[in-house]
Parts: sequence; C-alpha cells; structure tokens
Amino acid sequence: MAETIFAKIIRREIPAKIEYEDDRCLAFHDVAPQAPVHLLVIPKEPISSLATVSDDDSPLLGHLVRVATQLAVQLDLTNGYRLVINCGPDGGQSVDHLHIHLLGGRPLGWPPG
Ligand code: AMP
Repeated sequence: MAETIFAKIIRREIPAKIEYEDDRCLAFHDVAPQAPVHLLVIPKEPISSLATVSDDDSPLLGHLVRVATQLAVQLDLTNGYRLVINCGPDGGQSVDHLHIHLLGGRPLGWPPG
C-alpha cells in the first residue's frame, strides 16, 4: 500500500490534534471538520480500505468501532453521533488508509449531502 498522510501522522512526522492512542489505533481531529466534533479513528496497521480487510482483521475493526463509541461518550455526544467509513473513489474515500469518521455535536440529517 502506498504511503499516506495518515502514516506520517502515526509517526508524528506531521502534526495532528490527537485525542486517543493505543497499541492498535490512533484517533485525531479532522483538519476540515464537518461537524463540531469530527474525529478520525485509524488503525496503526496500514490497511488501505474496507475493500482490503480480511477475516483476520475483524477484531481490529471491532476495536476501532469501540474506540469511536467510547470517544463519543467522552466527548459528551449524548444526543447521538454518526460513524462513517468511506470506501473507494465512488464512496468518497480520499485518503487510502482505513479510517472511521466520528461526527457529532449537531443534527446531521439524512441522507448526507
Ligand atoms: P475520506 O474522504 O473518507 O478519505 O476522509 C479523509 C479525511 O481526512 C477528510 O475528512 C480530510 O479532511 C481528513 N484529512 C486529510 N488530511 C488530514 C490531516 N493532515 N489531518 C487531519 N485530517 C486530515
């Protein structure tokens, strides 16, 4: 998989506002927030997208979701929030390193724009 800007964030080569880190993942604030709270939760392992995950990645995917939901609690998103994973060009994915968007802090509406 090609090097991405998220790999540089994991290695602290470029700055990011990091909210959470453990041995498997990192969560940081999106540089162009679409809501008052907009975090990205990413695996440290360089997985390019949902299209490339295997059955062996299922525990990691579960962990990423749990981290996102725990951050939603910590950030007081008591009225609800949205988790989004964009996959591939038609799915709106612009960075080829798997990431979960955690959005909240305002009514988000449906369908998304
Ligand atoms: P996606 O379109 O699903 O691939 O989402 C990629 C997200 O990464 C976008 O919401 C961007 O605003 C965000 N992004 C790109 N570069 C950075 C960066 N250096 N720090 C934080 N977020 C970034």
